[in-house]
Amino acid sequence: MQLSIYQLDEPLKPSEECRLTFDSSYTKKGFPMMNFFDSVAENGTFVSLDVLLVSIGYDPSVEIRDPFKRKKYELPEKFQDPAIDDKEAQKFSLFRRDSDLVDMKFQLSTSSDQTIIAPGKLMKNWKADNRNYFLYQPEVKTDLFANIVSARYEVLRDKWNGVDLEIYYHKPHSYNIDRMMESMKDSLSLFTKEIGPYPHSFLRVLEFPRYGSFAQSFPGTIPYSESMGFIQKMKEGDLDFIYFVTAHEIAHQWWGHQILPATVEGSNALSESLAEYYALLVVEKKYGKENIGRFTKYDMDEYLKSRSGLSEPEKPWFRTNNRYAGNLYQKGGIILYGLHWLVGNELISKGIRSFFEQYKDKTNPYPTTLPLLAELQKVIPAENSYYLEDAFKNVTVFDNKVLSANMETQADGTYLVTAKIELKKFRYDLKGEQTEISIQNETIEIGVLPETDDKTNVEIPLVVERKVFSGNTIEVKLRSKQKPIYFSLDPFHILIDRDLQNNKVKL
Ligand SMILES: [Zn+2]
Repeated sequence: MQLSIYQLDEPLKPSEECRLTFDSSYTKKGFPMMNFFDSVAENGTFVSLDVLLVSIGYDPSVEIRDPFKRKKYELPEKFQDPAIDDKEAQKFSLFRRDSDLVDMKFQLSTSSDQTIIAPGKLMKNWKADNRNYFLYQPEVKTDLFANIVSARYEVLRDKWNGVDLEIYYHKPHSYNIDRMMESMKDSLSLFTKEIGPYPHSFLRVLEFPRYGSFAQSFPGTIPYSESMGFIQKMKEGDLDFIYFVTAHEIAHQWWGHQILPATVEGSNALSESLAEYYALLVVEKKYGKENIGRFTKYDMDEYLKSRSGLSEPEKPWFRTNNRYAGNLYQKGGIILYGLHWLVGNELISKGIRSFFEQYKDKTNPYPTTLPLLAELQKVIPAENSYYLEDAFKNVTVFDNKVLSANMETQADGTYLVTAKIELKKFRYDLKGEQTEISIQNETIEIGVLPETDDKTNVEIPLVVERKVFSGNTIEVKLRSKQKPIYFSLDPFHILIDRDLQNNKVKL
C-alpha cells in the first residue's frame, strides 16, 4: 500500500468537483506459500476495484487486526467496530468509506479471445488493435464495490420479466448452469414480490477459478467460484447448495446493495442475515416446508462450528462484529426463519418491507440493525416478543433433548408415541458467561418420522404438532396413522440447539 498526500491550493468547497487521474498496475513478486489468489493468469483476470482504485482519506477498516501485531505496535488490545449508535460512523458505508452511491462508467480492453464483465449494462463492444473493448455503465447510482473479470467465456442466456439473465462459464463446466438459472428466476420472482423492485435490466452470474472459493454479489453481477457450484457433481437427494447459494447472492441485490449497511457493529449481519433468510424462503418455496429442516440444519451446524471458533465472546445478533458476520450469518438466517415460522410470513414480511422502504438507497447516515428490530417489534404479537429478546437482542442457545420415547399400537391400528423431553435454555452475556433461564410459554414442535430414505437422506415427518411448553421436563404424546420409526423434538431445526444429536430417538 502506498500513501500520497496532496495539498490543494484552495480547499474544496461542499459540492465542488475536482478531477483525480491515476495509473494503476498489478505486479506479483515470487510465489506465495499459501493463500494463493492468482488475480492475473494466462487465460483470465479477476480484480477487485479496491485493488485498482485509489482510496481517499483515512480508512479504519484496514487497521491492523492481528492481536499479536497490535501488541507489538502498542495499539489497544482489540480492534472493535464503532458502536451501533455512533453517529459519526453511521455516515460511512461498510463497503467503501470514501464514497456514497456514485455514477460509474468502465471502458476496458482485454485479449481478443476474452470477454470482460464489469458492473453495469454493456453499452458497447468493439475490436481495435487486436483487442476486445467493452463499455459498461450501471443504470442506477451504485456503491463503489465491485470487481472486473476477464476470461474465455461461454454464455447461457435467458430472460425474466424483461431482465436479461446471463451465466458466463468455462466451456467444460456446464454441469449446474440450468440449476443456477432456475434459482435466478425463482429468486427474482420471490424477492420482487416480497421486498421490492429489482433495479437493473440484467442479472449475471460469472464463473471464476478456484483460487478463491466464494461467491460475491455486486450490482447485477455475481462472481461465483467454480469450486462452489460450477464443478460439483450433484446426485439425487443432495442438498441443493448451488441453488441456495445463488439465491443468497441474488438476495444481496436488495440486502447490501439497496440497503447499504453503516460501518458500525451489527451492520454486516444486516446484509448477510437478510440474504440468508430470503435464500431460505426461496428453497422453502421450491422444496417445500417439509424439507426446510435440511437447510436449517446445515445453517445451524455452520453457525455452531463458527461460534466455537470465536476468539472472543459472541455479541448479540444486532451487534455482531462485522468481521464475524461472514461466519455467523447462518445464525441470522435461522433466527429470521424462526421468527417467520413462529409468527407467519405475512407479519414478518410487513415488518421487513417497512424497514426496506424507509432505508432503501439511504446513505449518510447509513442504516443499522436497530430500525429493523424496531419494525419487527411493531408487527410481532406480544406473546411472541420473547423470541426477539432471545434470538436477536441476546445470545441464547437451547440444550434440548429427548430423555425417552416409546410407541404402542392402538386397538384402531394407529400408533401412540409417548416421549419424555428435557428443555433447557441458556443465555450468554458479553463476557461469555452462561446463565440458565426458565422455559415459559415456549413454542416448540414435536414430531414423528419414518425411516430415513437411504438414497436421498430425506426425512419428512409423518406428524408434527406445535406445542407451547413451560418447565424443564415434560411428557408429550403424539398419535400417528402410519408406523413411526423416530420421535423428534423440533424436527425442522428451528431453535438454536447446541446438540442436535439427542433431539431424535429411535422408537
Ligand atoms: Zn452473503
